[in-house]
Formats: sequence, structure tokens, C-alpha cells
Amino acid sequence: MIRADVLVVGAGFAGAVTARLLADAGHSVLIIDRRPHIAGNAYDEYDAHGILIHRYGPHLFHTNSDRVMRWLSRFTDWRFYEHRVLTQVEGQLLPFPINRTTLNRLYGLDLDEAGVAAFLEKVREPRDPIRTSEDLVLSSVGRDLCDKFFRGYTRKQWGLDLAELSAGVAARIPVRTNDDDRYFTDVYQFMPREGYTKLFERMLDHPHIQIRLETDFRDIDRHIARRHTVYTGPIDEYYDFRFGRLPYRSLRFEHQHFADREWFQPVAQINYPNDHDYTRITEFKHATGQRHTGTSIVREYPQSEGDPYYPIPRPENEELYQKYKDLSETEPNITFVGRLAQYRYYNMDQVVAAALKSAEKVKEALRHP
Ligand code: FAD
Ligand code: UDP
Repeated sequence: MIRADVLVVGAGFAGAVTARLLADAGHSVLIIDRRPHIAGNAYDEYDAHGILIHRYGPHLFHTNSDRVMRWLSRFTDWRFYEHRVLTQVEGQLLPFPINRTTLNRLYGLDLDEAGVAAFLEKVREPRDPIRTSEDLVLSSVGRDLCDKFFRGYTRKQWGLDLAELSAGVAARIPVRTNDDDRYFTDVYQFMPREGYTKLFERMLDHPHIQIRLETDFRDIDRHIARRHTVYTGPIDEYYDFRFGRLPYRSLRFEHQHFADREWFQPVAQINYPNDHDYTRITEFKHATGQRHTGTSIVREYPQSEGDPYYPIPRPENEELYQKYKDLSETEPNITFVGRLAQYRYYNMDQVVAAALKSAEKVKEALRHP
């Protein structure tokens, strides 16, 4: 029997942040992960050619939260980096999210900002209420832009039509009348200077924290005497799918290295809404700032089977999740936090914020046994 105050299942952002906060408060923590590494989906590593890559697809850190930024800065220095994305439409590489340049190039126009606003006003198809991602996109940019930039990408990414997804999915993407071509507009946009895995190593380097990798919760559950469990894996799996399976979208990552060229593409990310089976190609060096005579990229092929990467935001899934959530709330000695445990399409900073909050609740629970 192993003893710890708290067992944390999963060493991604949700688990590692919670573990550190509890350790800082004096509690002994055992953190496990079934993968052979820490950092969850944010895991980065040097590939065989010496290039820092993200094994599970591109991870760009951005946040508006002073608190999240300050807290993470305990464990890393940062490299300023603003993400830029081009999208291939009708043979052209155009800025995405759609902005003034996108529209002028696509339609051969020369609109100023007011002209872009008037153009969008003319083509948009207002919908009320806005429930689905299709409602949202048609309401903001109309059918032609929807079909060129959104429908094909969404079909590939989710295996669903825009009309089958909640509005929140497409709401991640703004539409701009100016020339701002940044993907995010958050106050803070940085990459951890030495990578995410280094950040996690420092976060988990604490005398009260023990780490066990390649360890599944199911195999170890009965061998750990603890007062509280923090679970960051899929909530439906924890409950043996008793209300049914929550759907997740998975991805296959195809990594490739080029020894004979310094760069593969002009920006870190190019999207392919209508061509190829993959959704996007990411070239890591643009984001990490690494200098190297070769370069490494990753292509993302969405699929339904495989590791769960994305909860699928639509009302029936939310309803099913709610059943698991209600059940979890009847149990005082376990806390569910993170993208899979809360079935939320969270970015990294939102997971950190959720973990900061849940750690407070766990501390409170440990104070009052
Ligand atoms: P995870 O990182 O998934 O960690 C959960 C861990 O729990 C996993 O390591 C898993 O192995 C482990 N686990 C699960 N079940 C068990 C079990 N039974 N026993 C033991 N261990 C278990 N966010 C951004 O902010 N910016 C981005 O650019 C960005 N890009 C992304 C790109 C892709 C392709 C994906 C998939 C996500 C991206 N994200 C991005 C989101 C980001 O990855 C998540 O918000 C964050 O990593 C979630 O952290 P987490 O700890 O909740 O989950
Ligand atoms: N999207 C799209 N076309 C694009 C990029 C995004 O239609 O070129 C839609 C698609 O539904 C996608 C969602 O917007 O799943 C969110 O995109 P984001 O880039 O935020 O996805 P993530 O990086 O989380 O995979």
C-alpha cells in the first residue's frame, strides 16, 4: 500500500498545477499518468534531428489572465510569439481569421475598413437565435465565406457539419475588418522559452510530489491509501461509461523532418479547409524560435477512434456530461478537473485557471475531513 494525502490522476496541466498547489500547501501528492511522460497533450521533445516538436500537435500559449500568467512564470521564462495562420483557399494562401486582406485578395477588391464592414453587412445571413456554429458563421460572414473557410475544415475536424456543433466552436474564430493577422489577440502570447516539458519538470519538482508514469488509475486505485483523488482523465471512463460514452474527437499526427531545407512554409500554421485529408500543417521552429539548418512539421488527420483529444460541443453531449457531473458532485472525496474530466473545449490557460480554483476546493476538503 502506498500512502499519500492526494492521488492526482493525469500529469497534464490540470493534474500538474493541482499537484503543485497542494504540495505547496504541505500535502503529500502522488501524481500518475498512463503515458510514459509528464505534460499531457502539451508534451514537447527534441526529435531525432534535434528539433523541438510538440508530439500532440501545436500548442500556443495565450491568455488574458494576469493570475495564470504570473503563476506559470514561477516555472519558466517566456519567448514572445504571436501566432499567425494562413489558409489555402482556391489556390491562394490567405490570412486567417478572415480580415481585410483576406477579403481584398479573395475577391480582388480594394476595400478600406468601412468598406469591409459594409461588405460583410451585405453578405451576412442574420440568424436568430444563434445556436449552432453554422448560425454563427452565416450571421457574421454569409454563405460563400462560410463554405470556403469553415464548412470543409469543420467537417474534417469533427466529422460533423457546422449545423451539428454548438456556436462556441466557431466562436473561437473572430472576423476582422482591419489588417490584424494574429490568430489570437490575448494580452499575453508567449511560448515557454525552454518548452512545455521543462516547465512541467520544474512544476513537479517538489519534495512532497511523487511521480509514477506508465501507470493507469485502474491498476493502482486499490493500492493507494489517500484522502482525496483529483481526476483529470475522461469522466465517463472513471464511471465505467454507466450512462453511455461521451464522444471525443481524436487525431493522428504525422510528423516529418526535412534535413535539406531551413523552412517548409512561410508561417507556423497553414490550414487546408478544402484540400487534403489533414486539417493543417504546423512548422514548429516559427513558434519556438529555434535555429536549425533543417525543419520539422506535423500534419493533423482527424479521426473518431484513438486517444480522446477534443470533447465535442453539442447539446446532447452536454446533457450526457451533466449526468456524470451530477453523479460526481455526490462524492466528496474526488475532484474532476481539466479538458477531459470537465468535458470542456478548454485552452491551456483555462485549464490552469480551473486547476487553481479546484486546488482551493481540495485544500478546503482536506481541512474538514
Ligand atoms: P491532458 O493534457 O489531456 O492531460 C490528461 C492526462 O491524463 C493525460 O496525459 C492522460 O494520459 C492522463 N490520463 C487520463 N486517464 C488516465 C488514467 N486512467 N490513468 C492515468 N492517466 C490518465 N491549448 C492552448 O491553449 N493553445 C493551443 O495552441 C492548443 N493547441 C492544441 C492542439 C491540439 C491538437 C490539442 C489536442 C489540444 C490543444 N490545446 C491547446 C488544448 C490543450 O492541449 C489542453 O487545454 C490541455 O493540455 C488540457 O490539459 P489537461 O490536463 O486537462 O488534459
Ligand atoms: N475552423 C474552421 N476553419 C479554419 C479554422 C477553424 O472552420 O480554418 C473552425 C473549426 O470548426 C475548428 C474551430 O473553428 O474546429 C476552432 O478552431 P481552432 O483553430 O480554435 O481549433 P484548435 O486549435 O482547437 O484545433
